[in-house]
Parts: sequence; structure tokens; C-alpha cells
Amino acid sequence: MSVTENLNDTLKSLPKGITLVAVSKFHPNESILEAYKAGQRVFGESRVQELIEKQKTLPSDIQWHFIGHLQTNKVKQIIPFVALIHSIDSVRLLSEIDKEAKRIGRVIPCLLQIHVAQEETKFGFSPEECLNLFASGTYIDFRNVKLKGLMGMASLTENASQIRSEFNCLKQCFDQVKQTYFPSDASFRELSMGMSNDYPIAIEEGSTMVRIGSLIFGERVY
Ligand SMILES: *Cc1c(COP(=O)(O)O)cnc(C)c1O
Repeated sequence: MSVTENLNDTLKSLPKGITLVAVSKFHPNESILEAYKAGQRVFGESRVQELIEKQKTLPSDIQWHFIGHLQTNKVKQIIPFVALIHSIDSVRLLSEIDKEAKRIGRVIPCLLQIHVAQEETKFGFSPEECLNLFASGTYIDFRNVKLKGLMGMASLTENASQIRSEFNCLKQCFDQVKQTYFPSDASFRELSMGMSNDYPIAIEEGSTMVRIGSLIFGERVY
């Protein structure tokens, strides 16, 4: 199956209104261009250096989403062009993005990453830390950051009910933040959850944005 066929099959499987982020990390420019020619414009990358290289050579109307762990010392490099950062996992990172965005007069759309999986290694705020952050109001001072929602990953497991309950936990956290802090802000609306192996469950649990890599581009060669 070609990238184009995989992309079209994936798009067909998504209900209307769900944004597809085609996760192109570790895949070459040719594969990205094939998806681009088939109409895809939103791509996700998880490493700064790789993203910079790709952004320089690929079409300028691609919307690049950053989905991996972002070190504060690398923020500056992606601020001029990044369309959405999914992976805000500390207030320090938010503050750094705000500072660099201010310097060049941009407002950067961001999602807070919430840790709902059982694995210890996953980055992100716990649901409780997330609610505390919004309660503290500190995010309001970051005028050059626009918080548009939450992102999370389920555990890497075959256990569908566990995956479902983790996505459900994230959705409940989203609803609580939305109702309490953004009831009349239509732009706080994104719930980024679901990858190749679990996105149908994520959609059933309320995802608005799925991040799909291997299903479109094939297995990654590290
Ligand atoms: C790599 C990655 C994906 C895509 O994973 P697939 O299993 O290839 O669909 C999604 N989200 C994040 C944060 C990733 O790092």
C-alpha cells in the first residue's frame, strides 16, 4: 500500500471534524511530499533538528505540529513557524515559549500534555497538576501563548479497556478545564489523543485530533 492509499483510508475512517496530524518523524521528505500531494497539510514531528531540516525544504503551507518532548533551549528554533505545540509539560516551557514568541510578535497555539498512562516515563502534567495550573491563573500572564486544549497518550498495551479508561480520564480532565476556565472561549476546543493503534477508541472517547504515523507512512526505521 502506498502513502496515498494509506492516507485516504485513514481519512475515510475519521468522522467529520476530526483533525488528522500525519506523524512523519523518521520518514523522508519524499513520503511527506506524497501525502502533501494527496492533500494533507498538517504534519507532526517530535525532534527539533529533524523538524527544522524538513521545514526548510518542504512546501511553506505545511502546518507543522510539534508533538515530542521539547527542551527549553530548543524552543527558539521552532517558534518562527510552528503551528501547534502539543507537548507542553512544564510551566517553565510555557514561559520560554511565551518569551521567544514575544520577541518575534507571534502567538503560539499550544496544548498541555497530560499524563494518563501507567508508564512512568511519559512526560506531562497529572490531571490534578493540570487543574492546579489553571486554578493558579499563571497561564493568563503568557500573552504570547494561546492554550487551545489538552493532549495525552494511553499506555502501550493490548488491553482496550485500559486504553479506553485512560482516554476517558483525559476527556474528563478536558471537560472540567473547559467548563471552569474557558466556557465561552470557542478556541479552547482541542483534545489531541489517539495514535495508529488506538485512535478509534480515542475518537469514541471524545478526541478532536488524532496523531497517526505508522498507519500512513509504514513502520519507522530508527
Ligand atoms: C510517534 C508519535 C505518534 C504516532 O505514532 P504511530 O503509532 O506511528 O501512529 C503520535 N504521538 C506522538 C506523541 C508520537 O511521538
